[in-house]
Amino acid sequence: MDVAAALAELFQLQAKDLELDQLEEEIQKLPPELAEIRTQWEERLDRLTELKEQLKQVRREYERNDLELKDLTQKRSKAQEEQLLAESAREVTQYENRIQQLSTRIDELTELTLPLIEEMERLEEAIGALEAELSELKPKLEELEAENEARIQELKAAFEEKRAEREAMAKGIPVPVLREYEAIRRARRGLGVARMIKVGETFRCEACSVQLPTHVAQKVYQGKQLVRCPSCGRILWKGD
Ligand SMILES: [Zn+2]
Repeated sequence: MDVAAALAELFQLQAKDLELDQLEEEIQKLPPELAEIRTQWEERLDRLTELKEQLKQVRREYERNDLELKDLTQKRSKAQEEQLLAESAREVTQYENRIQQLSTRIDELTELTLPLIEEMERLEEAIGALEAELSELKPKLEELEAENEARIQELKAAFEEKRAEREAMAKGIPVPVLREYEAIRRARRGLGVARMIKVGETFRCEACSVQLPTHVAQKVYQGKQLVRCPSCGRILWKGD
């Protein structure tokens, strides 16, 4: 095969590959404004979940207390009613003690319950504020998401078009050359083929700048076989 001719085509193909890399990178890149608003959105959403969970726990505790309070109050009313029917002073005192005990417990529990009510109010307010912030953010977020989606679709269309061109170019290059080039590109991320450039009386690899031994430069010039840079391993092309 005519290695020199194949490499000239390969070099052009590489230019196309680099454009494809660029497009891919652009597709991945999130617009800063969108990244910022997504972060704001997610932070508030996380906080909202947290607050709702807190509210659930406080409410559960409140309901438990409330239930117990109702029960104790009922028992006290019953004791008060029964006290009226007491038949002896001793019995009256017994009821009195019982009523006193229940009242103490009711007072204790009420004191524990009041802060819970305040806490629930505080949490509900915070949740309401967060929900308002979220609904305020939403239209902007949706707008930016839609814009980004459109941007990506456009880039993807450009990418597909370029890839088709690239595939057409690849058909003109011998498969072993292409395979080697692709393997190097995967390993070295970026360039698979590099030009040999003349600097004074010496030759260098354009990709890694290493000075090439004369026998390597000669082989590259002859263009009869694939020669790789002894330093970076890329395929060397003698250039136009
Ligand atoms: Zn090199």
